[in-house]
Amino acid sequence: MRITSIETQPLTLELQTPLKVAYGTYPVLEYALLKVFTDEGLLGLGEASPDPEVTGETQASVLDALENASQFLIGKNPFDISAIINLCSREIPSYPAAIAAIDMALYDLIGQKLQVPLYQLLGGKGRLDIGLYPVIPMDEPSVMAKMSRNFAEMGIDTLKIKLGSDPKLDLRRLSSIVEAVGNRVKLRLDINQGWKDAETSLQAIQAMQGYNIEWIEQPVSAGNIDELAKVTAASDIPIMADESCHNPIDVLKIACHKAANMINIKLMKCGGIDQAMKMLAIAEAAGLPCILGSMGESSIGSAAGLHLAIAKPNIIACELIGPLFINNDPAYGYQIDRITLRASPSKTPGLGVKLI
Ligand code: MG
Repeated sequence: MRITSIETQPLTLELQTPLKVAYGTYPVLEYALLKVFTDEGLLGLGEASPDPEVTGETQASVLDALENASQFLIGKNPFDISAIINLCSREIPSYPAAIAAIDMALYDLIGQKLQVPLYQLLGGKGRLDIGLYPVIPMDEPSVMAKMSRNFAEMGIDTLKIKLGSDPKLDLRRLSSIVEAVGNRVKLRLDINQGWKDAETSLQAIQAMQGYNIEWIEQPVSAGNIDELAKVTAASDIPIMADESCHNPIDVLKIACHKAANMINIKLMKCGGIDQAMKMLAIAEAAGLPCILGSMGESSIGSAAGLHLAIAKPNIIACELIGPLFINNDPAYGYQIDRITLRASPSKTPGLGVKLI
């Protein structure tokens, strides 16, 4: 099987509610779709979901990077995926989301050619399905409390809460949410670097004692591993690295510096499944559990992440809930139970998603 051509197109995803986090508000998600064609008539699908704040890319720059990468793809056998991804990582190192799109399209082709769902290529079906959980965007305390109550009334027992402005206001947000949902609902806080340094973070965490908080994600600025390590050493609540941890080298650094208790792996930060598996191996050896995070990808990128999460026991939680909140998903086949929020992988070969 040989790659004969590629096609790219902008993928502008309309959200049901604008996503507000510590560093910005996103009314739509500006992503890119990749189609990889072969001489055997198979079509591999990829999605690049860039974020200038996280991956350093934009919709326009990933579209350029993907067009540029066609020279590394055309004429190649998709089964030579590690060599192709290594070449892309060397030639376009600043485009992890573009490389992630290439990586998932190649895996999609390999799975289709072998007639197996992707998880069978990544270690097999480690579990039947995995529970997802909603994200409460950062907003006024009353708005966040109302949204949280709606989910709790649906029976949802875990919420991800976006915080990260003034710690006093964050505390008001948290206490309003707990007042609305009770202390039974597990809370996973994402600060998105908003508390900046260790001193601010530790004061904020101290004030949040007694709440049912499972972990706190990225309290301090991404580049400051020493500050992250100080928070991790002093906090009773587990600390997760997200923006501080993009690739296998970052996992090694975090492990060596004891800078976090957990790692948030995102295909778009690291450059796809091939790289994510290296991160998982290092994290597992270091005793660091991982979660599979999301950039709000459509069904294409979410399917890629889900196959990995199903196959790897060191992934203890999964946030690939984007398709529930997108009005114009370009694909179907990614299955989330809308009542239980459990996602199960398609048994269709490859990613198991098709364009609408
Ligand atoms: Mg995060």
